[in-house]
Amino acid sequence: MSERACSCNEALASVYDYLDAELNAGEAQAIAGHLQSCSPCAEQFRMEQMVKALVQRTCCEERAPETLRVRIVAQISEVRITYRRDL
Ligand SMILES: [Zn+2]
Repeated sequence: MSERACSCNEALASVYDYLDAELNAGEAQAIAGHLQSCSPCAEQFRMEQMVKALVQRTCCEERAPETLRVRIVAQISEVRITYRRDL
């Protein structure tokens, strides 16, 4: 099953593990392949990547509380919505 394309649900369910490099090589390849061929999932992945980077930066001093993560996600979603409205 080397070239089996994974579904959007599978890809999105594994996005966090993929970001944390907790997948084995085969799984990571399946996600990477899906992200390349599916722009909605790739967009979701980029957003999670951005959130992770922001949370990590904030975490250096103290653990980011869940509320902070939620706030960051909300901010990014707002930006995305504004961006879409301008199109
Ligand atoms: Zn997808």
